[in-house]
Amino acid sequence: MFEVDLHLHTTFSDGRLTPSQLVDLCASRGLKHIAVSDHDSMEGLAEALEAAESHPDLTIIPAIELSTDIPGSEIHMLGYFIDPTDDDLQATLTRFRDGRFNRGRLMVERLQEAGIEVSWERVQELSGGGAIGRPHVAQAMVEAGYIQYPKEAFDRYIGRDGIAYVERPKLTPEGAVDMIVRNGALPVMAHPTYSEVKSARGAVKNLRDTLTELKAAGLVGMEVFYGDYTEEQVIYLKGLADDFDLVPCGGSDYHASGNPGEPEPGSVGPPVSTVERLAGLKRDLAGQAH
Ligand code: AMP
Ligand code: ZN
Ligand code: FE
Ligand code: FE
Repeated sequence: MFEVDLHLHTTFSDGRLTPSQLVDLCASRGLKHIAVSDHDSMEGLAEALEAAESHPDLTIIPAIELSTDIPGSEIHMLGYFIDPTDDDLQATLTRFRDGRFNRGRLMVERLQEAGIEVSWERVQELSGGGAIGRPHVAQAMVEAGYIQYPKEAFDRYIGRDGIAYVERPKLTPEGAVDMIVRNGALPVMAHPTYSEVKSARGAVKNLRDTLTELKAAGLVGMEVFYGDYTEEQVIYLKGLADDFDLVPCGGSDYHASGNPGEPEPGSVGPPVSTVERLAGLKRDLAGQAH
């Protein structure tokens, strides 16, 4: 067990625990520092911060996870110490959540055309009014009895090459870094390489070139200690983080998804020194603002 987990989702995006439930679970697992990092939403942060008040040993880094487009694939960008009072960012996030809504409906239509009777109403219910994600569609398919585990929906229908996959509007990686920097937060590249658990998600192509570009745009860190990464992957990414002077971050990317083998909060994570480095960078930024 680790004391730090900087990648966690709640019901405000496609996680299945409320912020309070997630915070309580993390505290009970002995975590000391966590980041709540919903997709395209900062709406869960207030509840998470409030829940943490009952756990004096647990501190929360307010965060976000933005999906960005690259040709044929995507890069996810985390923003640590995000400021939810940023109207520009809020407007962008609202636009993205609308994009997720429309895209969710289209994916359900495609499934229905293929004879898979999932209900769009149920998908919306499962999203609880938060950012609609593919895991909600997957969950609806589990409930309707088409598959046993959410993961199978990605493998067969809503993964990038699936018959019901639909794109949605996204930022570019540079755009996301810029948005996070302008917010006064710290941009960190999420899961840069292959993950088996996430539908055999591929590695970011030309990772070194991408890191060079994003570092110039203001990237400060990269996930190294992530989800289902093997020791070899961690060693490779740690080396890259050192080469580019990026803070080695990471976490479980826990969603309470119901998939077998899902990494639990605190089952993987960076050392406490990562939190200290991030907090130092945030302090430097705050100092410059004065
Ligand atoms: P979306 O942002 O709506 O495109 O959905 C992407 C999310 O789906 C990711 O953040 C993952 O949490 C989840 N996901 C991707 N691949 C899988 C998979 N194979 N099994 C379960 N969840 C997955
Ligand atoms: Zn997710
Ligand atoms: Fe992600
Ligand atoms: Fe995530």
